[in-house]
Amino acid sequence: KTATPVVGLNVPAAVGMSLEEVQTPALIIDLDAFERNVKRMRRFAEEMGVRHRAHAKTHKSADIALIQMELGGAVGVCCQKVSEAEAIVAGGVRDVLVSNQVVDPVKIDRLAQLAGRARTLVCVDDLGNVDDLSKAVQRHGTTIECLVEIDCGAGRCGVQWGEPVIDLARKITAAPGLEFSGLQAYQGAAQHVHDYGERKAKIEAAISQVAATVAMLNMEGLECKIVGGAGTGSYYFEGTSGVYNELQCGSYIFMDADYQRVRDEDGDFIHAFENSLFIWTSIMSKTKAGKAICDAGLKAQSVDSGLPVIYGRDDVEYIKCSDEHGVIADPGNVLKLNNKLKLVPGHCDPTCNVYDWYVGIRDSKVECLWPVTARGMAY
Ligand code: PLP
Ligand code: MN
Repeated sequence: KTATPVVGLNVPAAVGMSLEEVQTPALIIDLDAFERNVKRMRRFAEEMGVRHRAHAKTHKSADIALIQMELGGAVGVCCQKVSEAEAIVAGGVRDVLVSNQVVDPVKIDRLAQLAGRARTLVCVDDLGNVDDLSKAVQRHGTTIECLVEIDCGAGRCGVQWGEPVIDLARKITAAPGLEFSGLQAYQGAAQHVHDYGERKAKIEAAISQVAATVAMLNMEGLECKIVGGAGTGSYYFEGTSGVYNELQCGSYIFMDADYQRVRDEDGDFIHAFENSLFIWTSIMSKTKAGKAICDAGLKAQSVDSGLPVIYGRDDVEYIKCSDEHGVIADPGNVLKLNNKLKLVPGHCDPTCNVYDWYVGIRDSKVECLWPVTARGMAY
């Protein structure tokens, strides 16, 4: 028997409740907008003739990953951490790329075991790591597909394009239990560049490095089944490059206030992805002229990319936060005690990581509660 969760403790809502009754602060999803985003990305990938491997780091939810695959046509998901991948696979996903380096011996062992439960891929940028991965999969009788990661401008993980990639690809091909599946080339530093031309130039530089490397690999008889990368800010460049064949967008399902500042060629919000994720908050104090205080502060969100934006309102503005308070400028004194507002988080991914549940809303009613399956799983 499954117990019906009772509202209170870590449970902010129950199915069938009205939105007004949802306990604040809560993370709510506008299900209609969310589904439109999922279908939109499916259509874009189909039109461009590339696969989509949605990034689950954004939501850390097995329910959402499965929707991205079933409704959104994604071939699988990316995860950023082994524990995140373990949680998502336990929730039913059968194709996962850990889009990161896994070098700790215990983590490598867990990854080799995970490969017995799902198609498992990982990024590699070190020759010694290839030996360690190979030993682990031989112990467990599994197979891991490896993507050689190129640093194509983010200045993070990955080797220089060209020769170092060839060395790694050769070594992976020769290693028992490993398969060389292609390249990981994610230009993370370009995604949130607001200016279209500047963003485009960064991705074009990455594409030319990747194209040259693929050609060098082909001359060696090494085939790239996967050339992966791209996020919400850039996927149309990689998707139409003729070089990349697998996109890894994450934020497109929710969007956030910073992605709202990233613009298309014609100055529009990127490809009409809609805000579908909100922090539902209540006004808890109204004692001062021109100001109101809400219950969503620092512990209800990440503000690394800026403060949240109050959705659909230009008469009030979220201007400051402390641990459990948000200060709202209310020059017309229109906000009253217990009024509710929808905040568009500044940055969606780390905001989701501070909640236990997504509260799915349709027609102002709670339709579903999805656990943030891999919340806090960073190991
Ligand atoms: N791929 C990789 C490797 C990432 O690290 C990220 C996010 O940082 C993404 C894809 C998804 O990016 P976005 O959320 O901008 O769509
Ligand atoms: Mn992000």
